Amino acid sequence: MANALPHILVTGSTRGIGAAIVDSLRGRARVVGHGRTDGPEVVGADLSDLAAADRLWQAALARLDGRIDVLVNNAGVFEPVSVDASLEDWQAGWTRTMQINLQASADLCRAAIRHWRERGTGGRIVNIASRAAYRGDSPAHWHYAASKAGMVGMTKSIARGFAAEGILAFAVCPGFTMTGMAEDYLSSRGGEKLLADIPLGRVADPAEVASAAAYLALEAPASMTGAVIDINGASFVR
Ligand code: NAD
Repeated sequence: MANALPHILVTGSTRGIGAAIVDSLRGRARVVGHGRTDGPEVVGADLSDLAAADRLWQAALARLDGRIDVLVNNAGVFEPVSVDASLEDWQAGWTRTMQINLQASADLCRAAIRHWRERGTGGRIVNIASRAAYRGDSPAHWHYAASKAGMVGMTKSIARGFAAEGILAFAVCPGFTMTGMAEDYLSSRGGEKLLADIPLGRVADPAEVASAAAYLALEAPASMTGAVIDINGASFVR
């Protein structure tokens, strides 16, 4: 019966939210994960390389016997770049974040849509964006916010453009989500102060983001296509 399970590619599954998404799909899908380098459970591809996303798609297809039903774009970086950096470093920071967070995701969406068209089937895309898409981010993370806003715009365009072909697209916008050691995580995001801004009183757990992603990947009704799900403890309500 393994073939009856949906085949799913989850990018950035080596840790954090991606690892939680793979966990939440266990037993409900045949999943191929992805990380920067090859491993027994993951296809390796460094998405800072312009050609890597397409290679990743082909390698994932080979591991899944030529069929992928759902693409989850989760891999991403949150790297600062200051306005005080040199122009060269500033542009390098922007290019790298846009490449990994947005361009690689777009390339994978393109490959998925072409695959589904070729097979004459529909499919689902789940893009892990961020609260930053709507709220903005720190003075050192405009590029991050811009990449995630780009992802939301891309998701909605795909939903509108390809719904008639049975291709559905969703986005998830997590707020702070505790993915590393609590102390490191909090200090990299502004310390305890950030909790004061979250009515729920805590950051999200990766399993909470994963449950929404798994719902969109497996169960969400087709009429939800184009939807964006917020997971932020009411720290940004819109
Ligand atoms: P993480 O740093 O724990 O994991 C990131 C994953 O992406 C890893 O598997 C890593 O291997 C992969 N990745 C990073 N750079 C890569 C590259 N160059 N090539 C290939 N793979 C690469 O991150 P996380 O916190 O679990 O975040 C997952 C997603 O959720 C990201 O897109 C992030 O922007 C988004 N997000 C996270 C938070 C949060 O607070 N943790 C909030 C909002 C959105």
